[in-house]
Amino acid sequence: MKYILFTLYIILIQTEISAQSNNISYLSYNKANEILNSSIRANGNFLDIQCMQFKIQGRDMLLSHIRKPWATVEYPFQGNFTMDENYENKMISRTLKKSGHIGMVMSKKDEVYVKYYSSNDTVNVSGELAKYFINSLTQMLPHLILAEAVRNRETLTYIGDEKIGEFAYNVISFNNQQGKRRLIYVDSQSGLVFKVQNLFFDKQWPHGDVIEETIYTEYKLINGIPIPTFKIVKSSDVIIQSYEFSDFMINVLSDSSAFEIPNSTEKGEVKSTQNDDAIDISNLLIEEVGEHLYTLYLPPLDCKSMIMEFKDSILVIESATNSEYGTLIIDKIHDYFPNKVISTVVLSHYHPYSMGGIRAFVHAGANVVTTKGNEDYAKFIINAPYSLQADSLQLNPKIANIIIVNDKKIVFSENNLKVEIYDIGIKSNHTDEFLISYFPHEKLLFTGDICFVPKNYDDKTQVSSRTRGLYESIVELGIDVDTIIPNWPSKASSYKEMVSFEELEKFVLKK
Ligand SMILES: [Zn+2]
Repeated sequence: MKYILFTLYIILIQTEISAQSNNISYLSYNKANEILNSSIRANGNFLDIQCMQFKIQGRDMLLSHIRKPWATVEYPFQGNFTMDENYENKMISRTLKKSGHIGMVMSKKDEVYVKYYSSNDTVNVSGELAKYFINSLTQMLPHLILAEAVRNRETLTYIGDEKIGEFAYNVISFNNQQGKRRLIYVDSQSGLVFKVQNLFFDKQWPHGDVIEETIYTEYKLINGIPIPTFKIVKSSDVIIQSYEFSDFMINVLSDSSAFEIPNSTEKGEVKSTQNDDAIDISNLLIEEVGEHLYTLYLPPLDCKSMIMEFKDSILVIESATNSEYGTLIIDKIHDYFPNKVISTVVLSHYHPYSMGGIRAFVHAGANVVTTKGNEDYAKFIINAPYSLQADSLQLNPKIANIIIVNDKKIVFSENNLKVEIYDIGIKSNHTDEFLISYFPHEKLLFTGDICFVPKNYDDKTQVSSRTRGLYESIVELGIDVDTIIPNWPSKASSYKEMVSFEELEKFVLKK
């Protein structure tokens, strides 16, 4: 239904442009404006709020690189939200319950200051990261969203009406100063804001267009103003925040120094999860490691894919983190091995470094090899809408053929070329299902991110549970391994990019 509404929105916009008529937009604007005004009245004279403080009992639940798709790690905290006059400056400060570390996000007008947990310094952030924090502070209360809609009234659009359970909602949208389009669901009976939706392109996970929903419930009258005392945030339908509000103080700002900028502030850079330097296929490095067997190195991610060259086709293992890099790998292979089709891509586990580029390979016509527990997640990525940053599969959809590894093993071979793929499961100490690829002719093993043997180490160096798990898996499978190549980390790290079995054994069994 969410996507239907966004589609409807796009259709409305297109209709407006193509009809060359202002009728639809005026009707839409007037109706949206009416709904906004009624919601402002229902939410009390909140525009008269000068300043405000309240306490938060919260839990952030972040999607993490852990055992299974959609798994989150929970960070419970106690915090405070503070807002000074006319919503100019806002701040949330919080203390993690387990560790006691303090974090803070403050926006002074459009300047954003962040103190990360366990850091003593406050960082002045800019760019996309600053926009992200301003948006998340604004989403703390529906009143701030309504105030934002008022400031951007000229972009108001009526989207439609929607029933959720027994309740009916009027849905309007507007574009905020950051260029972010928000949908507001206004309860058609009470006029209160039920939820706010944002659509964004996920750059951390290969989830494409993601709808983030902030849902406000448990409204209570505080100083005559209805204020929600419970808020959750969902992303791709997974709950990522759950906050309870209490101890409200309205129009009483106890501490005027709250918004002073700490002395320890440094100018920070935008922290991006991706290296934005443009690269082309000339930056990718193909190295021969056996008979018709090659590694392909992708410098920005410091990761490798493995290429097995059959007579007419190519098998690839690992697809890098996203469609863009997946396409680059495919282009490099087509350039290096002209006239060969990429028949198969094997994905060791569900994390982005392995599965992120899956869509590019589906577009290239490759069969996708994964495990049962990751099948639905692989399909989710393949079928996700990518309208905000269209990739090849979005522009030219293809049907995916998924091959599931049953009974812990699958083999691909042609003449004397052979790869045996094993699911070592939880023995990876990383994810519930985990494929490693063994090339018996070369006695070579290609793994995901489970082989960390330092270039230099001493007796005190810890052996990671993943590395130990890999060693034990090789011994248990009884495969004759000479050399191990991990897909990540690779050339740019303090770990070995190629490890002999003896080196692995010596490291794991050291005192
Ligand atoms: Zn991983």
